[in-house]
Amino acid sequence: MDDKTLISNVVAQVLSRMAAGNNSPVAPKPVASSNGLFDNVDLAVEQATQAQRQLAAAGMDVRDGICKLLKKMASDNAPEWGRIELEETKVGRLDHKIAKLGLLQGVPGVEFLKTASKSGDRGICLDEMAPWGVIGVITPVTHSIPTMTANAISMIAAGNSLVINPHPSGVNCLCLAAAEYNKAIKAEFGIDSLINAIHTPTLESADQIFNHPRIPMLVVTGGPGVARAAMQTPKRAVVAGPGNPPVVVDETADFNNAAKSIIFGGGFDNNLLCIGEKEVFVVDSVFDQMMAAMRNAGAVELSAVGVEKLTKAAITWQDDHFVAGKDFIGKDPSVLAAAAGINLREGVDLLFGETDESNPFVPVEQMMPFVPFVRVRDFDQALEMALKHEHGFGHTAIIHSNNLANITRMGQAVNTTLYAVNGPSAACLGVDGEGYPSFSIATPSGEGVTTPMTFTRFRRMTVTNSLRIV
Ligand code: NAD
Repeated sequence: MDDKTLISNVVAQVLSRMAAGNNSPVAPKPVASSNGLFDNVDLAVEQATQAQRQLAAAGMDVRDGICKLLKKMASDNAPEWGRIELEETKVGRLDHKIAKLGLLQGVPGVEFLKTASKSGDRGICLDEMAPWGVIGVITPVTHSIPTMTANAISMIAAGNSLVINPHPSGVNCLCLAAAEYNKAIKAEFGIDSLINAIHTPTLESADQIFNHPRIPMLVVTGGPGVARAAMQTPKRAVVAGPGNPPVVVDETADFNNAAKSIIFGGGFDNNLLCIGEKEVFVVDSVFDQMMAAMRNAGAVELSAVGVEKLTKAAITWQDDHFVAGKDFIGKDPSVLAAAAGINLREGVDLLFGETDESNPFVPVEQMMPFVPFVRVRDFDQALEMALKHEHGFGHTAIIHSNNLANITRMGQAVNTTLYAVNGPSAACLGVDGEGYPSFSIATPSGEGVTTPMTFTRFRRMTVTNSLRIV
């Protein structure tokens, strides 16, 4: 079977299962030349194990070369892969899908690996950062190809191979890119598939990866359910969980900059990013100024009636809590505007409107380009609400202020992995700010913005009474 036929077969199988509404796994059948695509976890792990051994033997320059190759391919294919991902997942925006693939250029590679050493009267010791081996990976629908690629760059830089269980709604685009990466790596470096993906992903295949004896480490990027499941495994698990980033705007903020930043962060890819601005708390004395700044910067304000209509349509009550409606997650502002009863002009990135704290858009991680603005008495109340609605995820918080005491106090209190001050949340990942990107921000497990060092095992060699040359 040639590569194109294999990929189209995989895509056809998945599409027909989706059309039939059948999520049961397809019977495992070994794939002779898979380019890393498998319907069987054991076979994928076997392939990943062999490839990881090849990578270990090949050395650092080859790891570096592979990372550079992945970045180049992501960039070269960004328009096409961005389109394919949007067509399949139906969430987000094409220009930002393409931009996210471009962002991968900044993902750290082998240069991030550090070896520490100590030399003393009794000899030397060397702290090396070794690979784990085969890493089990779970990817979200919100950034299918970018998460796989960023994970692959960091993990391969650290000497590992991957077995991925993609989100079922983003599996085809991920498999297409994985197969392309594997073919290119094989052609240039002679190493077989390092990036292996289950093209028939189910909860059962995720579970097999979670429990596979030859997978020592898991890296899980997703919402509360999968984050909880990963935190409960006895394995080493790097867990990039959900967020609901609050924004605080106090009396001293630069309102124009705050508006520009909130529109960029909250509007990016229709607010799919876990770091994206999700709710804003503005001090009463400057509330009207801030709303005016939002309008001036190009966001469109919904009336109270509009907010009510949108809320009824887009957020539903399920069991005992509110959830974001699937028909609205990651959709364009025009779709939300229609639900709110207005026709939107072209080129609007974000809708906003005044709500009170009890509106479900405030507590729910809505992933939609509408951001609720809540009027608060003072900074103390803003901070209290920000803490409450971040839900203790420890993910991301944002402040717009020129009051150093407020900036410091909020930073200490929110205790989030990312804390953006006077810029968009994305600044923390190197977009118009200092930092570097990753698509897996490990929050409950604490590793933070993942890098190659995240995917290494500490190993020390101590040589007693020799090898010291001074
Ligand atoms: P999701 O939780 O629906 O799915 C994520 C992945 O987990 C998918 O592959 C899914 O198939 C799998 N999954 C779900 N439940 C599982 C279970 N019980 N066992 C095993 N696998 C399971 O999330 P999504 O809609 O794809 O992505 C959006 C969510 O991910 C948001 O909550 C967002 O904040 C979060 N996210 C976090 C980061 C981060 O870096 N912290 C990055 C991107 C997305």
